Amino acid sequence: MSLEPTDLRSDTMSPPTPAMAHAMTTADHGDDRYGESAATRALEEHCAAMFGKDAALFMPSATMSNQVALRVLAGRGREVLCEAGHHLNLVQAPAAADLAGVAINAVVTPDGLLRPETAAQAIDHRARWVPDHATTGLLWTENTLTSRGGRIHPLPLLTDLKRWSTRRGIAVYLDGSRIMHAVAATGIGPAAWGATNDAMALCFTKGLGAPMGSVLLGTTEFISAARRCRQWYGGAPRQSGPAAAAALWALRHNSARLAEDHANAAAFAAVLAESPYFGVTAPDTNIVHVDVSRLQCPAAGFAARAAEAGVRVLTCRGAEVRAVFDARTSRQRAVRAAECLLTLAARLTPHRVAPGRTRWWDRIGPAYPVTVAAQAYSRTWE
Ligand SMILES: *Cc1c(COP(=O)(O)O)cnc(C)c1O
Repeated sequence: MSLEPTDLRSDTMSPPTPAMAHAMTTADHGDDRYGESAATRALEEHCAAMFGKDAALFMPSATMSNQVALRVLAGRGREVLCEAGHHLNLVQAPAAADLAGVAINAVVTPDGLLRPETAAQAIDHRARWVPDHATTGLLWTENTLTSRGGRIHPLPLLTDLKRWSTRRGIAVYLDGSRIMHAVAATGIGPAAWGATNDAMALCFTKGLGAPMGSVLLGTTEFISAARRCRQWYGGAPRQSGPAAAAALWALRHNSARLAEDHANAAAFAAVLAESPYFGVTAPDTNIVHVDVSRLQCPAAGFAARAAEAGVRVLTCRGAEVRAVFDARTSRQRAVRAAECLLTLAARLTPHRVAPGRTRWWDRIGPAYPVTVAAQAYSRTWE
């Protein structure tokens, strides 16, 4: 099956649309270090108001937002409590140790969701045995959960966590790199998510389609400390207007359409779930994790073969690959990509359908066109 390549590795790669590019070329070129970038100020004020925060700071990346927040909020030599699957633990822990001087206390939970009971256990267990060992400076949350296939951390759970944390005198941070996906999927507005933490960040490249940037949000005092830290880390921009204008355009015009990406991810997952080859659960948002352990092929090999066939996916931990949906991938492309993976799986694993089992497209209805590839695939297992 020849297919124009579909890149499902991440949602950071959609190029600026002509309208976004226009917003960039017409933005001012004031120097942000002199407080003269009007577009940057407009972005910061817009974001602070949206999430109900006092102040905001434009950052080059969500990684820097996170690292600056750690430095300002946690305190050197203290620990930061998070779930083991959080981006902080998987990707940023060495930087956190080096730059912010903090240790990560990563709790493993079955569903990736932190609850007050698990957080309390993680702290109190240690406090009982080694009371002089460490103190917890910060409780870290993430939404949506990248390594858990874009799962939403539900608002009531985050609210519980914040209540518990406030009682314990521990600040809460939200790595909201994909918080707009949670907003689009739940219909719960940004201010409600903003109320679940003391400081938070979002990312403009994740699905929103801006070429770069993140914003850090919190109290005036926090943002003023973060501004100094951003300068230390080398992340203070000069003429940030065009980048900020792209981010603001993305937030205003691309937030609602994230729901299309969620529907496309669901359609992709539905096609795969109907086959005997893959382990797939319906995604909350735009990330689908596909378990390929039933195939006679390791995940990396499967990803390489999928790329040859025109579908680029990323390997995750274990025997999983992930497919992430953004504006580059239409519904039709999403379904075709899934069909392409089915064809590949059928070639890798000669498999016979159990008697009485219907074909997968009979069960998912007429919304999914039966293509030539699907028909060819049917011959391989009937
Ligand atoms: C992508 C991501 C980041 C890092 O964002 P960058 O802007 O690429 O630095 C941080 N946290 C989470 C949860 C992410 O998904």
